[in-house]
Amino acid sequence: MLNVIVSRLKQGHRTMVYPSGPAPELPDRFRGRPSIDPEKCLTGCRLCSDVCPGKAIVVADMVRIDMGRCLFCTECSTACPQQAISFTNEYRLAARNRQDLIVVPGKQEALPAARLDDRLLGMFGKSLKLRQVSAAGCNACEADTNVLGTIGWDLSRFGIQFVASPRHADGVLITGPVSRNMRLGLEKTFLAVPEPKIVIAVGACAIAGGPYADHAEVENGADNIVRVNLYVPGCPPHPLTILDGLLRLLNRI
Ligand code: SF4
Ligand code: SF4
Repeated sequence: MLNVIVSRLKQGHRTMVYPSGPAPELPDRFRGRPSIDPEKCLTGCRLCSDVCPGKAIVVADMVRIDMGRCLFCTECSTACPQQAISFTNEYRLAARNRQDLIVVPGKQEALPAARLDDRLLGMFGKSLKLRQVSAAGCNACEADTNVLGTIGWDLSRFGIQFVASPRHADGVLITGPVSRNMRLGLEKTFLAVPEPKIVIAVGACAIAGGPYADHAEVENGADNIVRVNLYVPGCPPHPLTILDGLLRLLNRI
């Protein structure tokens, strides 16, 4: 027993200092907010949108990338002969409004998610209980959300916890494109959460269907069924992106 105690003391404090200190270092392969260089993008070229598996690129008067649909696969960047599209290490991707997920040429800076209104902030700012609904995704978004519960991230230090019953929850965190089979489950879970409540859509699937978009068996995300308060893009989003969105929503950073 003594050895165990000594060993634990030697381990010290393992939870990251973020957000009161710097954010954890992201790996080189991390793909954050896309950037489109207007000087390099050729008018009329559609090579990027042609290869995009997420149908996330619209080419009209200018190229736009919808981060809500983006799978962060970088196929567009590879296909562009001008290297007009690149992926930054900006992890602050979450947004309160769907339109804020659209990236246009020359707009580099992130638009961090706005906080809840005063009434909801007063209720949830220091204690937010969430029921997670896994609505037919690939499980990667759930895995990255689960990471937040580990000792390194310790989500509960912010008063944010996942609960088993929607009756005990303040909101629903949804992953997956919402299959037709899961629609009823999501609706019932949402209804079982007492008012007022919030909804958080995590991942490309939950926002717009992700790689399953427009399939006959999916509902193309949570937006078509419940009102979403926070969109967290990514496929899957990095835990830091999810945490950043949650903390901004609760005005904790
Ligand atoms: S990175 Fe996003 S925008 Fe680019 S091809 Fe992949 S899904 Fe489409
Ligand atoms: S958004 Fe991507 S990672 Fe998340 S559930 Fe869908 S396919 Fe999986």
